[in-house]
Amino acid sequence: MQWVLLGIIAAGALILMVSVQRAYNLSKIVPLSLRFQWRFLTFLICSFIVGYCGYILIQLFRVNFPLEVLIGAIFFCGALFVFGIIALSAQTLHQLKQFNDTLELQVQERTQQLEAINLSLTHSQDNLSRQNIFLHTVINALPHPFMVIDPDTYEIDLANTVAGFAATQSSRTCHALSHGSALPCQGHDHPCPIREIKTSGKSVVMEHVHVNARKEKRIVEVHGYPLHDETGKLLKVIEYSIDITEKKQTETALLQAKVAAEAANVAKGLFLANMSHEIRTPLNGIIGMNHLAMQTTDDDKRRQYLNTVQSAAENLLDLLNDILDFSKIEAGQLQIAPRCFNLRRLMEDIMATYAHAAKERFVALQLNTHALAPATVHGDDVRVRQILLNLVSNAIKFTRNGSVQVSVRPIHDQPDMLYFTITDTGIGIPPEKQQAIFNSFEQADSSNTRQYGGTGLGLAICKQLTVLMGGRIWVTSEVGKGSTFHVELPLPAESNYEDDEQKTSGQPPQPLLQALRILVVDDNSINRDVASMILEQQHQVKTASDGLEALALLAEEYFDLVLMDVQMPFMDGLTATKIIRAAEQGHDQIERL
Ligand code: ADP
Repeated sequence: MQWVLLGIIAAGALILMVSVQRAYNLSKIVPLSLRFQWRFLTFLICSFIVGYCGYILIQLFRVNFPLEVLIGAIFFCGALFVFGIIALSAQTLHQLKQFNDTLELQVQERTQQLEAINLSLTHSQDNLSRQNIFLHTVINALPHPFMVIDPDTYEIDLANTVAGFAATQSSRTCHALSHGSALPCQGHDHPCPIREIKTSGKSVVMEHVHVNARKEKRIVEVHGYPLHDETGKLLKVIEYSIDITEKKQTETALLQAKVAAEAANVAKGLFLANMSHEIRTPLNGIIGMNHLAMQTTDDDKRRQYLNTVQSAAENLLDLLNDILDFSKIEAGQLQIAPRCFNLRRLMEDIMATYAHAAKERFVALQLNTHALAPATVHGDDVRVRQILLNLVSNAIKFTRNGSVQVSVRPIHDQPDMLYFTITDTGIGIPPEKQQAIFNSFEQADSSNTRQYGGTGLGLAICKQLTVLMGGRIWVTSEVGKGSTFHVELPLPAESNYEDDEQKTSGQPPQPLLQALRILVVDDNSINRDVASMILEQQHQVKTASDGLEALALLAEEYFDLVLMDVQMPFMDGLTATKIIRAAEQGHDQIERL
């Protein structure tokens, strides 16, 4: 019985000890405010153990102890323990409830926050999807293929409808789509725009041949743009290609048409030049023969007819010369040949040439040479004369009962430039025609040809010659009041030049030419006849029709003068002249020996 009691007490003590340990552990995690109470509770449980152990000792050793005190103490501690447990549970429950309320409040707040975040996420998603739709609408509205490509894998990330790319297709690379090829483009003929962008980091434009959905080859202009991140790393390449097949075909056709037109123009120019040359030869014959006929007739009526023939033929010759010059300029064959010449004499010659025509039209023709204008200059006198003759002739042609003033002066700040003006008081030129008259075949008034004659070539030639010489020409004019043609030409002064007239000044005039032995060499029989008939009036003349014949004649007899044509069959004039000069030198050397 005693042992049973001891066993019960030992079991109770064990349970109490476990409870002590648990109560102590709990006291560590309970809120600080309740920790003391928990520790006190633990102390109470310990008191139970002490009570039990005391009771065991009393029972085992029969110690004389007032059992009532012990049992009273145990009951008192038990009562305290129950009270403590209930008070602690009440407080703990109360605090737990407070925690729960706070937690619920926090959960509510958090839920509200999450709902707000969720709402803004939904908005962002809506925006994103709207932007996505907008982006697709925009790129699909593009008429040309548009792609966004990964520069590392060459895979297409985004493409518009025209690009013909389906996200589901097996090969997603740009080269597979555009070229049907498993590898990216390469080589100089077909460089890959993505590689070029990777190398240069810049946008590129290049021509490629792409294959479209119908397997047709199309020439396209590929525009590639790099997309970099904030560190400068190449992220994507944007590529769009414009189909230029038709444009290319048109360009090729235009180029071919241009080449054909240029060839036709060259052929036309050549034809014009040849024709003018061919017509000029018989015309020279007509003029020469007419001249002779005029000299040999005493009949006034006949002389009048011949005069008319002469002036018509000379007009025709002028026109042919204009056409020849124009076609030479057009073909780029006209060369400027500068040399020193006497400008003042050239101006006086021009005035003398038109003095008679001006008088006939009651026009006062006057020359004003500025005191500072140089007497001798360096330039192409033939072309300067041609320009001034044309302008003075026009001024007289379009003026009646008025005046024509020709002036020349140096330009103030450009000492090498001379400024010429030809001012008339004639019919004038309307403002809208003042540019056009410098174009070929343009006249201010289409009725001009009938009223005044002319072809509309003169000013075009003047302009081209002026430009060729590095100068410029323009007109100022008022209808009914007159016109001024302005010409600026680079003609630097040449102080060391003495022309023939200056060299011979002070010397007695040369005697007139005595009768000479002259050899006329020309393949054209009319030219030969005209030259010999004119020269035979004063000289002894023989003729040859080519260089070889001329050399044969020169070997047989002596001639004072040889008039040699340039282009001839068998042996041309240049070759024949070189042989004659070489023979002369050889002869001189033999004589010196
Ligand atoms: P052409 O005189 O042979 O017709 P030009 O090229 O010399 O050809 O002149 C072109 C046109 O410019 C003339 O037809 C005429 O209408 C106009 N023009 C030229 N010079 C004058 C001028 N001094 N006064 C009025 N009109 C002029």
